[in-house]
Amino acid sequence: MVNIILLGPPGSGKGTQAALLSGKLNAPHISTGDILRRAAGTELGSRAAEYMNRGELVPDSVMIEMIRDRFSQADCAKAFILDGYPRTIPQADALADILTGLDRRLDLVLNIEVPDAELITRLSARRVCECGATYHLIFNPPENEGVCDRCGKRLYQRDDDLEESIKNRLSVYKKQTQPLIDYYGNMGTLVTVDGSGSIEQIADEICAAAKS
Ligand code: ADP
Ligand code: ADP
Ligand code: ZN
Repeated sequence: MVNIILLGPPGSGKGTQAALLSGKLNAPHISTGDILRRAAGTELGSRAAEYMNRGELVPDSVMIEMIRDRFSQADCAKAFILDGYPRTIPQADALADILTGLDRRLDLVLNIEVPDAELITRLSARRVCECGATYHLIFNPPENEGVCDRCGKRLYQRDDDLEESIKNRLSVYKKQTQPLIDYYGNMGTLVTVDGSGSIEQIADEICAAAKS
């Protein structure tokens, strides 16, 4: 089962788990946040950065076009692990249309639950790499300080991982994204996992759900 969505608040570990799962299941890791960050310098990138830095969502029309385009690429023909999409009901409806058009279906939506206080601790010491790898200064440090294990580039702190923006992102999640838990719950594709254990424990749990 590799048509998978990872759902959960910012900091719940979606990116970390998606990268692990992508390696284990040989499925592309599609992070809309990474796609937007890589667009820095283009018109799309600078328009999106205004929303991102405030901790707001980028408009649905932009995101839906982006995901439609991503699904037209060959590597998603058999499998995908979506991280950070959908974040609203219209985005979920659009994904359903895309999948129907391709005669595919969603296998699994993993809802990762973590208490708010822990999310803030995680996000405020997160460090990321351009290549999509994610670290934490204390919980998941790179082997060499400030340098990516996977590609050797310098790590950086995201502009939206500052306190004001983090708080806004958590409230935006509750208002706009949390309704997707019922949306997918009603479709019968939702599995909730406790995201507060160690990275390895959660990875095992997610892998078991994906293989069942
Ligand atoms: P998301 O993509 O959901 O925003 P990330 O995967 O970027 O979440 O994780 C947020 C931060 O928490 C990162 O710094 C990451 O290294 C760290 N992290 C991820 N999973 C865990 C975990 N199980 N325990 C402790 N820290 C974690
Ligand atoms: P995190 O994993 O910390 O929640 P992401 O990297 O997934 O962050 O997303 C960073 C920012 O990019 C979001 O706060 C939002 O502004 C924008 N973004 C990413 N994906 C979407 C989406 N599906 N819909 C709207 N905005 C998005
Ligand atoms: Zn890297």
